[in-house]
Amino acid sequence: MTTRTHILGFPRMGAHRELKFALEKHWRGEIDHAALEEVGGQLRARHWQAQRDAGLDYVTVGDFACYDHVANHIQLFGCEPARFGFKGDEPELSRYFKMARGVEDQAGHVHDAGCDHGSEGTFALEMTKWFDTNYHYLVPEFTAATQFKLASTRLFDEVAEAQQAGHAVKAVLLGPLSFLYLGKEKEAGFDRLSLLDALLPVYEQVLNRLKQQGVEWVQIDEPILGLDLPDAWRNAFERAYWQLARSASKLLLATYFSPLSDNLRLACQLPVAGLHVDAVRAPQELTGVADWLATHKVLSIGIVDGRNIWRTDLDAALATLRPVVDKRRGELWIAPSCSLLHVPFSLAAEKKLDAELRSWLAFAVEKLGELRVLRAVLDGSEDSVAEELEATRAAVAARRSSPRVHRADVALRLARSVAGDDQRASSFGQRQRVQRARFALPALPTTTIGSFPQTPEIRAARAAFKRGELDAAGYREKMRAEIALAVRKQEELGIDVLVHGEAERNDMVEYFGEQLDGFAFTANGWVQSYGSRCVKPPVIFGDVARPAPMTVEWTAYAQSLTQLPMKGMLTGPVTILQWSFVRDDQPRSVTCEQIAWAIRDEVVDLEAAGIGIIQIDEPAIREGLPLRRAGWPAYLKSATRAFRISASGVCDQTQVHTHMCYSEFNDILPEIAAMDADVITIETSRSDMELLRGFGGENSAGGFRYPNEIGPGVYDIHSPRVPSVGEIVRLMRKAAGVVPPGNLWINPDCGLKTRGWPETEAALSNMVAAAKLLRAEL
Ligand code: GLN
Ligand code: ZN
Repeated sequence: MTTRTHILGFPRMGAHRELKFALEKHWRGEIDHAALEEVGGQLRARHWQAQRDAGLDYVTVGDFACYDHVANHIQLFGCEPARFGFKGDEPELSRYFKMARGVEDQAGHVHDAGCDHGSEGTFALEMTKWFDTNYHYLVPEFTAATQFKLASTRLFDEVAEAQQAGHAVKAVLLGPLSFLYLGKEKEAGFDRLSLLDALLPVYEQVLNRLKQQGVEWVQIDEPILGLDLPDAWRNAFERAYWQLARSASKLLLATYFSPLSDNLRLACQLPVAGLHVDAVRAPQELTGVADWLATHKVLSIGIVDGRNIWRTDLDAALATLRPVVDKRRGELWIAPSCSLLHVPFSLAAEKKLDAELRSWLAFAVEKLGELRVLRAVLDGSEDSVAEELEATRAAVAARRSSPRVHRADVALRLARSVAGDDQRASSFGQRQRVQRARFALPALPTTTIGSFPQTPEIRAARAAFKRGELDAAGYREKMRAEIALAVRKQEELGIDVLVHGEAERNDMVEYFGEQLDGFAFTANGWVQSYGSRCVKPPVIFGDVARPAPMTVEWTAYAQSLTQLPMKGMLTGPVTILQWSFVRDDQPRSVTCEQIAWAIRDEVVDLEAAGIGIIQIDEPAIREGLPLRRAGWPAYLKSATRAFRISASGVCDQTQVHTHMCYSEFNDILPEIAAMDADVITIETSRSDMELLRGFGGENSAGGFRYPNEIGPGVYDIHSPRVPSVGEIVRLMRKAAGVVPPGNLWINPDCGLKTRGWPETEAALSNMVAAAKLLRAEL
C-alpha cells in the first residue's frame, strides 16, 4: 500500500500579503492587468514549490483566484449576469473586478442592491459567508435565461504554468451541484437546480480539456454534501456524477466542514475515483466511510486541521489513520481537512511569538510538513522523521500540561457556577419597572450602537502609541479629548442614552483579547476574508481570565462629563470566540463560558463605577450556528447561556443591552429572546423593517415572540447617505405597527466608526427630530 499526500487548496495572499497590495495598487490605477497577473503567477509558482518541497505527490491548481474562486467559476462557465452589460471585447479581468466591486456611475457612486440604477452604474455581486468560515464568496446569480459555455482559459493556463515548472498537477473545481446551490435565483418561481442539465456539458468540456493537458486527477469539491440538503438536490447527485463519469479524468470528490450524515452512503457510492472526507470535523464517520467506499476507490483522509492553527498531534493522527490503513488495501491519500485558505501562511514570519507558544502552532506551510511526516511513518520510514516526531511529541506534551494553558482558578470558577448564575434576579417585567423609574427616559428613547467616527487623527494617535512614539499619558489625553468631543456632540444632538464612542478600540475583539489572559496575537497571521481584505484573528491558547478592568476608566470618564446615562460598551463572549482561533483541546463551549465570566466581571465593575446601562455586543451569534441543524440546539444552549452569564451579575436597576448586526432571526428568535437582554438593537433599515415582523408575532404562551425592548435600526450606516426625518418616521410607524410602541427605541443599524462626522451629525439630528415628532403622536 502506498500513501499519497495532497492539499485541497492553499492560501492565495502570499507570505506577505503580496496579492492584497497588488490588487489595491491595481484598483488605484497604479499597475495594469499584466502587472497584477504577474504577481499572481509569482505567488502560484512559490506556493506550488512549497507543496513540492514538502514532498506532496501533486500540486493543486485552480485554487488561486485574484478575488474569489467562486467568481473564477462564474467566468469559467460563462455565466456573468446580464445586468453588467459586458461587451464582448472587455478584458476578462476587468469584467471580473466589476462583478466583484460594482461599477461606478458618472458621479462616482457605486449603487447598491437597493437602488434603482441606471445603465451607467450597477452594484456588485452579493457577497456571503463561505459555509461556516470567515471567508466570503461572490454569489452567482441565476435566472431561467442563464446559459453556460466554456468561457475562460484561466484554469487551463494555470495548469500549463504548473506543468512547465515540472510539477505533477491535480486540478480543483467547485462541483456543479455546489456551484448551483451556492448561487441565488434572481427571478421569482425559478429553481436554479433546473440549470443542472445545461451546466453539466460544460463541466464535461472542462474535464476533457484537463485530461488532454495530461491532468490525471481532478478534485471536485462538493461541500454541500455536509449540509441538510433538500431531497431534490440530494437526488441530483447520482445523475450528475454519472454524466461526469463519461469524461476520462479521475475525479476525487471532496467534502469538508461538516459530517456527511445522511449523505454518507451517497458520497461513497457516487461513480468517482476517490472521496475526500474531513476527519477533523467528523472523525466519527471515518470507519463508516472506510466500510462503504469500494476498495478500488481512493480514500483521501483530511487529518490535519485546515480550519485551525494548532500543531497536529501526530501520534493521535496516526492512531486515527492506522485502523483505516489496516482495513483498506486500496490507495490512501492524506491531506488537510479542507483548503488551507482558512489559515495563515507560515510561522516563519512570527518573530515575536515566544518560542513555546510558537512550538504549539502550525500554519499552512507547517501543515504541509506535517503531511510529509505522517506519510513517512505510514510508509514505514519512521526513522527518517524521528526528529520531527520527537519535537511534535514534546510540544504536544508541553501544551497539554502547561500552566499557561490550564489554570486552576479558572477551572474552579466554572466548576463552582450554580443554577442561577445565568439568570437575572427578577423577571423582565419587574426589571423594566425599576429601570423606567431609574432612568425616566422619554418614550422612544434615542441611542447609538457604540462607535463614533474613527477619524484619521484617532488612527494616527493609536498607531503612534503602538510604535512607542506617543507615550501612555499622551495617548490617554488624546483619547479623552475624543471621548469628550463625542459626549458633547451627543448632548447637542439631544440623544437620550449616550456612548463614549470607542475611540480607543481598533477592533471590537482585539481590544478585549489584548487585555485578557489566554490570548495571543500574531504579527502576520492574516487570513483572507474577501477580495483583498484580510483579518488577523487572535489566538485563544489558554484558560481565559481578566486580570484587570478593561473599559471602566474610559467609560467612567465619559460618564463624568454628562448627567445623561452613559452606556458601557462590551463585546460578548460568543463574538469574541467566533472571531478568534479557538483552542482545540477543550470544547468551544467551555472556552466560551470562560470568556463569559471574564466579561461578567467587567459588567459588574462597570455597574460599581456607576454605569447604569451596559451593552454587550453579540453580532456573531448567528454565524456560529453549525452547518447541520442537528447541531443547533447544543450550540444555541451554550451560546445563550454564555451571554446570560456575562449579563447576569448585575442588579435589576442596571439595564443590559445587546446588539446584533442582522435581524434574520426568525428561526432562532425564541433563543434570542431567551438571552433576556433588557434591550436589543438590530439592523432592520435595509429590509424596510420587514425583518421586525417576526419579533412582533405571538409566542407559544400568547405573549410577543420578542417580549423585551427593541431598537430596530432606522438607517443604514454602510453609506454616507443621510436619511430624512420623514423616512425615519415612516420606518418607526411601521415598527410600531408590529411590536408594542412602548418597547421601542430609536437608533441606527450599527456602529458609526466607518462614517465621517458631518454625515453622522446630520443623520442623528434627523433621527432625534423624528423621535420628537413620533412622541407627539403617541
Ligand atoms: N459597538 C460596536 C460598534 O458600534 C458594534 C459593532 C458591530 O456590531 N459589529 O462599532
Ligand atoms: Zn452591528
